[in-house]
Amino acid sequence: EHMMEIRRQNCNPMIMKVTYYKKPVFIHQGHMQWLWDVDGRRYLDLFAGVATVSVGHCHPKVTAAAEKQLRKLWHTTNIYVYSPLHEYVDKLAATLPEPLKVIYLTNSGSEANDLAMLMARLHTGNFDIITLRGSYHGGSPQTMGLTSNSAYKYPIAIGLGCHNTMCPDVFAGPWGGSHCRDSPIQTIRNCSCPQGLCMANDKYIGQLKEVFATSVPSRIAAFFGEPIMGVGGAVQYPKNFLKDTYKLVRERGGVCIADEVQTGFGRTGSHFWGFQGHDIMPDIVTMAKGIANGFPMGAVVTTHEIAASFGRGVHFNTFGGNPVACAIASSVLDEDGTQQISHEMGTYLLMGLSKIRDKYEIIGDVRGKGLQIGVEMVKDKASREPLPPAAMSEIFEDTKDMGVLIGKGGVYGQTFRIKPPMCITKDDADFFLAVFNQALNNYME
Ligand code: PMP
Repeated sequence: EHMMEIRRQNCNPMIMKVTYYKKPVFIHQGHMQWLWDVDGRRYLDLFAGVATVSVGHCHPKVTAAAEKQLRKLWHTTNIYVYSPLHEYVDKLAATLPEPLKVIYLTNSGSEANDLAMLMARLHTGNFDIITLRGSYHGGSPQTMGLTSNSAYKYPIAIGLGCHNTMCPDVFAGPWGGSHCRDSPIQTIRNCSCPQGLCMANDKYIGQLKEVFATSVPSRIAAFFGEPIMGVGGAVQYPKNFLKDTYKLVRERGGVCIADEVQTGFGRTGSHFWGFQGHDIMPDIVTMAKGIANGFPMGAVVTTHEIAASFGRGVHFNTFGGNPVACAIASSVLDEDGTQQISHEMGTYLLMGLSKIRDKYEIIGDVRGKGLQIGVEMVKDKASREPLPPAAMSEIFEDTKDMGVLIGKGGVYGQTFRIKPPMCITKDDADFFLAVFNQALNNYME
């Protein structure tokens, strides 16, 4: 009865709602790449809770590892030593190159980025932080300062030192502040070439130098960048952009932080960590989402030198790295072949989507790497104006009604995002391509 009432109202008013679908999709159960709603309808989940369910919903091996740990020890904090924690950090450290070997565990990506900000500031003694236009780095008050996308910022952030929240690209302040103005990443409006890379790297780097020369203090604490921008719409950078940016940032005394919350754990297909595809070595790497297949967890990995900047201070996190999360995350790392699936299925989907792009005037760009894919929708290929929200919504809802869940993103909400669990098959990819093609057809008619 209670459920009927909630369904009648479309949502339980006591729950903070994110408006995504016109009518909420009542998910009841999941298995690998599939979800079922309360009416027994099956959906192919190509969004995976925003790239979170990395190896599959209720993956049998991961579930077994969780159950085993739940019967032994649920919780204790890091003032004690317990084996799931130690086993896990050894395994995680083995996936990262030297000198990235010191690990702090948290419960989310925002917490991880908060901690990375603190580390960067303690280590450098500097305050200012550079992020990129269109980026998302978290929803905590501090990381909201890093996030550029105005859709995720609130006026309250003004009280926290993030000035001028009306303008997504300028904010700086006594704490929580960061600069991301005039950042060198293009948005849809000037993006008119394949892969979203319309300006040469020299031009971006020229813009970045200009930002340093005009508005950013001569010394900075850090640069935050995702290897491929996630919420921003699977935006890829020109070759060497991150490499050249790291150089400029280090010249100004800053450390370089790779936010791997979306790109880590094999999602880009070619490498286990997204930064490895850019010929760069970050000073700090943050991660979450796919780390524990949807169980709340995050991590910060850094060097011994930066970790030492905590000095005698203790960083304490009650739930961070709890035994169950560690056991789950360990079994995620044990799962073989996910990166390979990401590579093969990602390449297959990109090829299929590119063919669809050539058929429809309203697809401006198909881009991404591995199973981190963006399909940018436009009014027409010539103007490259973003497809308006109502039209996006129509295609999105239709795709859902035909049994496939995808995501949305981009500065103007104009990019469909595909980030499935890394267990999808060629049949799943074919099913999605047919459904998406049909949804576009229906819209154009
Ligand atoms: N960084 C990136 C790149 C993200 O995409 C997100 C979440 N969308 C976060 C940080 C914040 O993670 P969380 O929601 O777990 O706090």
